[in-house]
Amino acid sequence: MRFHLYLILAMSLYACQQEQLSTHPPNIILFLVDDMGWQDTSVPFWKQATDYNKRYHTPAMERLATEGMKFTQAYATAVCSPTRISLMTGMNAARHRVTNWTLYPNQIQPMETNHETLQFPVWNVNGLAQDTSVKLAVHAKPLPAILKENGYYTIHAGKAHFGAIGTPGEDPLNLGFDKNIAGHAAGAPRSYRGTENFGNDTTISDNIWAVPGLEKYHGKDINLTEALTLEAISAMKESVQMEQPFYLYMSHYTIHTPIMEDDRFYQRYLDEGLDTVEAKYASMIESMDKSLGDLMNFLDTAGLGENTVVLFMSDNGGLSAHTREVPMHRHNSPLSSGKGSAHEGGIRVPMIVKWPQVTSPGSATSQPVIIEDFFPTILAIANITNPTQPQIVDGISFKNVLESRSVESGDRALVWHYPNEWGPSGPGIGASSSIRLGDWKLIYYHQSESFELFNIEEDIGESDNLIDSEPEVARRMASALSEYLREVDAQMPIHKDSGVPVAWPNEKI
Ligand code: CA
Repeated sequence: MRFHLYLILAMSLYACQQEQLSTHPPNIILFLVDDMGWQDTSVPFWKQATDYNKRYHTPAMERLATEGMKFTQAYATAVCSPTRISLMTGMNAARHRVTNWTLYPNQIQPMETNHETLQFPVWNVNGLAQDTSVKLAVHAKPLPAILKENGYYTIHAGKAHFGAIGTPGEDPLNLGFDKNIAGHAAGAPRSYRGTENFGNDTTISDNIWAVPGLEKYHGKDINLTEALTLEAISAMKESVQMEQPFYLYMSHYTIHTPIMEDDRFYQRYLDEGLDTVEAKYASMIESMDKSLGDLMNFLDTAGLGENTVVLFMSDNGGLSAHTREVPMHRHNSPLSSGKGSAHEGGIRVPMIVKWPQVTSPGSATSQPVIIEDFFPTILAIANITNPTQPQIVDGISFKNVLESRSVESGDRALVWHYPNEWGPSGPGIGASSSIRLGDWKLIYYHQSESFELFNIEEDIGESDNLIDSEPEVARRMASALSEYLREVDAQMPIHKDSGVPVAWPNEKI
């Protein structure tokens, strides 16, 4: 009898929890940092702590990792816009065709026009648009639009960089966000300083890099990262007052160039012996981390901590090809290269997820995930089971991983496609297509139609090219890569001298 009573009690408790879940879906914060490398944190993502982990101070990330799940093989794309469009649409970059970073409408990047040997395809230079009349844009229903339809208050804070200047997609309000704090077409601020009005300068004719919408902080001694955090907290309070769950896309401009010190943290790194550039860079990381800590503290104070999922991610690897202290291409060590590269330094990024009552505190997973996976995962977290969107979604939900359930996607291929030019040169930098399958990664360089093959598990620094010694592995991967690229009708550059398109990878092996 008593057992039955317990059972009934337990069942009604469960029913109550389920009802709470359906009537009070969780709040979601996606904390996306710009250009943050895999090693730009005191949280170790490798098997051992590195010198960079010891250099940087990110206590809030440490706390998030202690309370949530760390992803040690999380991938973005090598530059900004492809990652951001994949995040918003669930599509792989080869499919959505916003393969390089956007800014000016209707034109490919100047360094692409002037390339010596390759003629680059006209990719979706106008970015993302819901309006199908916009040319040279990917037409898709963005993640926040679906969340909004399902009762979420959708907040954009920080860097948008979704659409070219003058197109509807430059304004987050046209992409399903209810509120836009400081987002527009440009992917960087002219200044992080309130005393410099975040780059708003009436004496300059070209104001593309002026951060919009934070006028109340102009002239004040406040860092952009702090101003965005304060505004994001205000927006979350609005949402609570309206009794709506919120989706906060906390998309920091930092730690993208210009590398400008945050005075609150700068001196510590000078005292520790870093040169000025690296000390400034480190202060930007700690500034970003303070923002994360402030948001987590707000959640706790407001009683929202237990019903808010926090996802931490970066949009590409850490900058290492220019502007940083020499030697270049080593700032993400043990990974090779950095932002703009197909090597791990360009694409492997720090990722942590805390889902209260779901993710096991202090856990870690080596399950490979890629940026387009966030789209179906966030919808699943929000308990939106039948979203309707016109686009084909390439991403696969990692909700099962968060729940520590068995994962059967071990043989899943991850694909990157960059038929473009970034500018600087260095290891893994240049037009390429790549595939990760199990422990292996194959990179196909368009200009030379040549390959690199690495066993990432054994050679995380990608120093030992096994293309000649593992022909069978290479053939299998080139075949899988080509099949996918053909299936999504991926764009390829053309060789200027012959007028012939770059061959598919499987034709060159
Ligand atoms: Ca970026």
